[in-house]
Amino acid sequence: MDHSDDAAILRKQGHRLTPQRLMVLEVVRQGKHLTAEEVYAAVVGQHPYINIATIYRTLQWLQDVGLVAPLASGTGPLRYEYVRGGTHHHLICQDCGYEEEIDDDLLSALKAHLQERYAFSAQLHHLAIPGRCSTCQRAFEEVHHPQEHHNELN
Ligand SMILES: [Zn+2]
Ligand SMILES: [Zn+2]
Repeated sequence: MDHSDDAAILRKQGHRLTPQRLMVLEVVRQGKHLTAEEVYAAVVGQHPYINIATIYRTLQWLQDVGLVAPLASGTGPLRYEYVRGGTHHHLICQDCGYEEEIDDDLLSALKAHLQERYAFSAQLHHLAIPGRCSTCQRAFEEVHHPQEHHNELN
C-alpha cells in the first residue's frame, strides 16, 4: 500500500492534507517505532519552520484517523508506528530489548473476557507486552538455578 492510497482515502473522508501532515505520515510509515523527536528530526530538514508542537499535533491527528498508533513500552517516550490495515502488538524483552510482533487475534479472548466479566470494552491498540525472551530466560535460569540445569544434563 503506498502513501498516495492513504492520501486519497483521507481526502475522500474530507480531511485536509497539508504537506506537513503528508511528510509526517511518510516519515512514520518508513521508520519503525519513532519517537516524536525522531520524527521531528526527519521532517525539519524539509520543513525548517515546523516545531515539535506541530509534530505532536500531527501525530495525534494521524492517530485519530487511524493511520498511526503510539507504543507505550513502559520506559522512555512514546514511539509511533504506521498501523493501517490491522492492529498488532509487541512482545518486548526487558533484558535484551528483543522485540517480536504478534497478531491482534491473540488478544481477542482477553477482550471478550473483559467485556463479559466487567462490561468493559478494551481498546487495545499497539500494546507492548514486557517480559523475557527465551534466550534471556535460559540465561536467567542458569544464574538462579544452576543446580537444576546440572541435573538435567545428567
Ligand atoms: Zn508496532
Ligand atoms: Zn532477551
